[in-house]
Amino acid sequence: MLSLRFALSALLVLAAGAANAQQLPVKRQAKPTHPAITAEDLMSRLYVYADDSLGGRSSGTPYNDKATGIIADWAKKMGLAPMGDSGTFFQTVPLVRRTWVTSPVVVGGTTFEFRKDYGVFAQWVTKPFDGADVVFGGLIGDTSVHLTADQTKGKVVVFGFTPEMAAKGLQVQFTSALTRPVAGAVGVVLPLLDGAPSAIRGFLMKDESVSPVSGGMTMSLPPVIIASDAMAQALVGGPLAAAKWGTVTGHYSGKVQLRESPTSARNVVAMVEGSDPVLKHEYVALGAHNDHLGVQSQAVDHDSLRAYNLQVERLKGELGEGKTPTPTQLAAIKVNVDSIRVIRRARLDSIANGADDDGSGTVAVAEIAEAFAGDKVKPKRSMLFVWHTGEEIGLVGSDWYTRHPTVPLDSIVAQLNMDMVGRGAAGDIKGGGPAYLQLVGSRRLSTELGDLVEMVNKMRKQPFSFDYTFDAPGHPENIYCRSDHAMYARFGIPVTFFTTGLHADYHQVTDEAEYIDYPHMAAVTQLVHDVALAVANADHRMVVDKPKPSSPNAVCKQ
Ligand SMILES: [Zn+2]
Repeated sequence: MLSLRFALSALLVLAAGAANAQQLPVKRQAKPTHPAITAEDLMSRLYVYADDSLGGRSSGTPYNDKATGIIADWAKKMGLAPMGDSGTFFQTVPLVRRTWVTSPVVVGGTTFEFRKDYGVFAQWVTKPFDGADVVFGGLIGDTSVHLTADQTKGKVVVFGFTPEMAAKGLQVQFTSALTRPVAGAVGVVLPLLDGAPSAIRGFLMKDESVSPVSGGMTMSLPPVIIASDAMAQALVGGPLAAAKWGTVTGHYSGKVQLRESPTSARNVVAMVEGSDPVLKHEYVALGAHNDHLGVQSQAVDHDSLRAYNLQVERLKGELGEGKTPTPTQLAAIKVNVDSIRVIRRARLDSIANGADDDGSGTVAVAEIAEAFAGDKVKPKRSMLFVWHTGEEIGLVGSDWYTRHPTVPLDSIVAQLNMDMVGRGAAGDIKGGGPAYLQLVGSRRLSTELGDLVEMVNKMRKQPFSFDYTFDAPGHPENIYCRSDHAMYARFGIPVTFFTTGLHADYHQVTDEAEYIDYPHMAAVTQLVHDVALAVANADHRMVVDKPKPSSPNAVCKQ
């Protein structure tokens, strides 16, 4: 699932010790799979798909190519029909790799080096610059500061933070800085480097990103330079608290420039053809995303990180809906590293394996495909399986597929998306348990589709109890807009998003195959299979009775 903010993921290095690290994830020998959807088969596939050898499957890297190669091998083995480019299982999605080119910054005879004294936060496309006058933008949190466009235009703006704002923690400081008006500024300097935990430091100093060729996270923001306190003070000529806002304090001599080079990634597209001579020209689309976050810049100790994050989740649960713990509350969390070490040695980990996100959806779609491929009598409509790439960098693969569909877009009668379907236990999420499942979007375009999902569920021996909390219009988690189904829904295609929800290992290196609840995941997979079958065999296509979005280019609304 796509991260809500610019993913200042709470990676903390906690007592990363012992060099003799044990390998993660815990290995398991894959066994041959069978057409029936079983916990055993899902496990066999997921231990392959979430293995360290796939390096976190980040789009635009050879690891993602390796992952999509595995899916295509599965599809071939099952006898699915290839539905990608020119008779293959692959649809190539063009991407661009953006690298920051910088130079040392010289201020009054002192030289500050890239990745030592400063980093460039590189998640959006901005204009380059090569030196500019510096303006002090004041302390963020000080309500008496009112910068005008004249004061910031063409300048590098250095901000500080009031002590109250600093106490709120890095993430709040960062996001509040991003919402400051800096009309026409060529750069923004935030003195956040010294206070950042080392893993976040690595994240803030990343010097490259992979994005779609056009669009993506283009923002009207200048590059954000994350500087040490010493560099920020040199730029404003003294302590920030004493500097006068709105005045030119010096010159930033150094360049910040983007170098772009083409790269690409692959959607995997396959089909089981329908049995009805007419209805087979309509498709029930099933989707998941094949990519994840890749290798992180710094290794962390798996067990203490996980113990910490589980306590954060528990604290959130105690605080109640919509509340986040304060830095003071977070600082009070103590992880008993000694008791962890009694069980085993430190295990250093830097690979985000994304077993749940979205290894789970990926293998679930594979199991559903294998089940339909093995049926003697095929469903009336055709089944279209799309494993999208680039979800984590902004729903890029599903954006591409729906703009370059390999079947007519209006012949897709519904899209059923699975992203993170392997958890949902009581310890993972409020209300969790074996019958837990979140549904999002199921009635937003077609009441009939939402009703049908309910009906299919009621026929189960052990029905799920659906959690619609995250489907609520305006819900702050914005889940409806955070996975691939949103790209289909914007074209008026009825969707249902199935997920067992966010949890402590979400977007952490601890999202491993060993923490997946396989029987629960098999039940979800079977339900989605049964819903797909019901949609495929219905005597009419799902009726769209709700208004379609005004335009596919409109911003998604939760
Ligand atoms: Zn994700």
